Amino acid sequence: MRKKIVAGNWKLNTTVPEGIELAKAVNELVAEQGAADVDVVLGTPFTHLTSVVDAVDTERIGVASQNCAAEAKGAFTGEVSVDMVKSTGAKYVILGHSERREYYGETSETLNKKLALALEAGLTPIYCCGEALDIREAGTQNGFVKQQFEETIFTLSAEDFSKIVIAYEPIWAIGTGVTASSGQAQEMHAFLRGAIAEKFGQEIADETSILYGGSCNAKNANELFANPDVDGGLIGGASLKAGDFIQIINAY
Ligand code: PEP
Repeated sequence: MRKKIVAGNWKLNTTVPEGIELAKAVNELVAEQGAADVDVVLGTPFTHLTSVVDAVDTERIGVASQNCAAEAKGAFTGEVSVDMVKSTGAKYVILGHSERREYYGETSETLNKKLALALEAGLTPIYCCGEALDIREAGTQNGFVKQQFEETIFTLSAEDFSKIVIAYEPIWAIGTGVTASSGQAQEMHAFLRGAIAEKFGQEIADETSILYGGSCNAKNANELFANPDVDGGLIGGASLKAGDFIQIINAY
């Protein structure tokens, strides 16, 4: 059975003490009332990783970085490698978020380097994909996201592909308060699962967790997660409040 996952993406928010406080609050709520069959992930800034790993029960909560370097080591000032991330105790790395693609020029080529390094280091990539508003309005979103797959995760071996988690995040829904409708999310997730089945076979497609991201919150998570092909969420804004985040974790 594929995993249900609710992952928070804190983005450029919280100082280290604030992040520890938030992680402890989430940890407590998950221990008290978190649905046992949902994997919980906290995607924190690099500076917080070690402290957040220490602050939570890592059997219950995985920690993620929001990016990693495209090189393994060396003269790359300001970069953070997969081995550095791994050495904090983090288990996941969010890759290809639309904000990184848009603001930091992250290309498929860069992403492929990061995916290979992450997999080699034993980190689980949470691979983000999704279309901008003009593409959705033109009705070409399915082909666009499939093309993103073809340039990146469809170049992986079946074995490596089966280690990744996918997050479908329509850009027009990220941080905008506009959520994809339940029907739009299901339609895209089913299409992507079909594309994965064509590429790697039905068994791998059935085991792949495809999360939805884009203004998912405590109010709408229930309806989104009720879809058969939506296996959880990548949550931005609503992951910064422990009380909201636990409601999303328990939205199944
Ligand atoms: C995100 O950036 O991954 C995201 C889904 O953000 P938000 O939930 O704030 O739309």
